[in-house]
Parts: sequence; C-alpha cells; structure tokens
Amino acid sequence: MAGILFIISAPSGSGKSTLVNQLRTLVEGLDFSISYTTRSRRGSEEDGREYHFTTREEFERMVAACDFLEWAEVFGNYYGTAVSALKHAKALGKDLLLDIDVQGAMQVMKKMPEAVSIFILPPSPEVLELRLRNRSKAENVTSEAVIEKRLNAAKGELKQVWDYKYALVNDVLDKAVAEMRAIVLYERGSEEAAEMVKSCRTDVAAPKLRAVLEAFGE
Ligand code: ADP
Ligand code: 5GP
Repeated sequence: MAGILFIISAPSGSGKSTLVNQLRTLVEGLDFSISYTTRSRRGSEEDGREYHFTTREEFERMVAACDFLEWAEVFGNYYGTAVSALKHAKALGKDLLLDIDVQGAMQVMKKMPEAVSIFILPPSPEVLELRLRNRSKAENVTSEAVIEKRLNAAKGELKQVWDYKYALVNDVLDKAVAEMRAIVLYERGSEEAAEMVKSCRTDVAAPKLRAVLEAFGE
C-alpha cells in the first residue's frame, strides 16, 4: 500500500463521522488517526477510541514538544493530530485518514502537498440544522447556543471547499459513502469508478457546490 494520507473536513453535523465509520467497514487498509482534544466526552465516546481526551496543560505541553503534525482551536477547544499517528500507519503499511477541521487541513496541505483532501458539504442549511438538532436530541444535550455557533461556523468553513481536491454533498447517505469509497480506491490506482470520482473533483462539481454555498448565503 502506498501510505496515502486522506484529509477529510466538513462543517460539524454534515455527517462526516457517519460517513467515515461506514467507509472504514468497506475499505481495508485504512488507519484512522485518533486526535487529541481538550473538549469533554460526548454521549458514548470513550477515551482512546473517538479521541484521546486531555487537559489544556497537557495539550500545550505536547504543542511545545512538537508532538503534533497540526493542531487548531475549534469551538473553544484544542484539537490536534499526533505525529505518531503517521508513524503508526506507516509501520502498519496502511493509508491514514485524518478527520480534521479546515484550519488543520490547511496546515497539513502545506506540509504534505501530496495528501488527498476531501470536503463534505451538507445539502442545505435547513438539513444541517435538522441534523445538528437530531444529534443533540439523541445525545440528550440540546443547546441552542451550540447549534447556533455551529451553523454560523459552517458558513465560513464552506468557503474553504475550493482548497480541497474533492468535494461531495452528503445528501443520500449510501451515495456519499459510495463516492468516498470510490475516491479512496481511485487514489490507490483503481479505475473501477473513475467517472464517479471525476464528478467529485472540486473543479468538476463547482456548479453544484456553488449552489450549496449560495443557499448558505455565501
Ligand atoms: P459530523 O461528524 O459531521 O459532525 P455526524 O456524522 O455526527 O456529523 O452526523 C450528524 C447527524 O446527521 C447524525 O445524527 C447522523 O446520524 C445524521 N446523518 C449523517 N448523514 C446523514 C444522511 N446522509 N442522511 C440523513 N442523516 C444523516
Ligand atoms: P467534534 O467536537 O464535533 O468531534 O469535532 C469538532 C471539529 O474538530 C470537527 O470539524 C473535527 O473535524 C475537528 N477535529 C477533530 N480532530 C481534529 C484534529 O486533530 N485537528 C483539527 N485541526 N481538527 C480536528
């Protein structure tokens, strides 16, 4: 395996975790980087599974020790990708998937221009709001302020879509999963779904992407 680095970003609530979890069951040889974060655990999350949960002091110590490939402050908490995640994937001979925000993605793209970047968009502001609300309900934490903050942040994040190689709209889940899978296999050298992959290239998908951005008022 080539040791490809996949960067995936999306506004919170777009369905990125759902997509990534499905992708991992469909595609072999993908290692998932478990980020460090200073935010509190949510719902059924476990330390060392979804994230390494840590304190601000410990995180800042790791920043000073250059332990991170990238890090950023998102919604008031620190998040970072450990350099050791890259080494771990390499040792296993696997490709590595990073689920990181747009600020972190820009840092990685600069350091590693060969990385394959994928941006996931929600179909519309209405659908994004609904997904954020449904998720909060399922986790028993409905905070208007949090939902409002994430909806506003989505606008700014969506503008970064043009910096990514691929972009897909997570409308029908199965279709979005198929597109993600096709991109990973294509980047590994398969021609199996080349047409589908082409339609996900940011330049090719531009009219569809512009329509989503316009719906968000951008
Ligand atoms: P993110 O990781 O981007 O913050 P999640 O994966 O947690 O988002 O998804 C947010 C909510 O939207 C969850 O309740 C999830 O089940 C739902 N969801 C994700 N993708 C879809 C989809 N294609 N259609 C309908 N609901 C979806
Ligand atoms: P959440 O708190 O909803 O799990 O994640 C909030 C945001 O932080 C998401 O956009 C997610 O992609 C991002 N994120 C998660 N891990 C990292 C990381 O290691 N680095 C950066 N820069 N962002 C991250």
